[in-house]
Amino acid sequence: MITGSCLCGQVSYQMDESKSGSAFHCHCSDCKKVTGSGKATVVEVSEKDIEISGNFQTFEKLGSDGSHVKRAFCPICGSQLFTFVLENEGALFVKAGTMDDSDWVRPVASCWAASVSPWSPADETTKTYAGNPLSA
Ligand SMILES: [Zn+2]
Ligand SMILES: [Zn+2]
Repeated sequence: MITGSCLCGQVSYQMDESKSGSAFHCHCSDCKKVTGSGKATVVEVSEKDIEISGNFQTFEKLGSDGSHVKRAFCPICGSQLFTFVLENEGALFVKAGTMDDSDWVRPVASCWAASVSPWSPADETTKTYAGNPLSA
């Protein structure tokens, strides 16, 4: 079982690593804003394979490709934990850095390489997509 939480611990979760989907880096401009960094690294998981405790708030904004993206954060410490995409029903993306141990995460691709920042380049050892791989 993989455990994780926000910075203050108010929101926490448990998920089964063996049931997780792909991990990837996202260099889109929205992920840069919410992380304050060059990219977000996320792991996809089915809603049924993750158990979330605590209360998070969400902020909704249309993604660069028009998808309906809801970003979940802790209202106390502000940590970003999860992303829900309406067009990707039944699954969510967990920010890898919120996991207590994320050493097992192996990103398979970099998305939105078109908006990469030169100081945080895309990982050239994996696939890169100019935009969203689902619409590529
Ligand atoms: Zn918190
Ligand atoms: Zn993104």
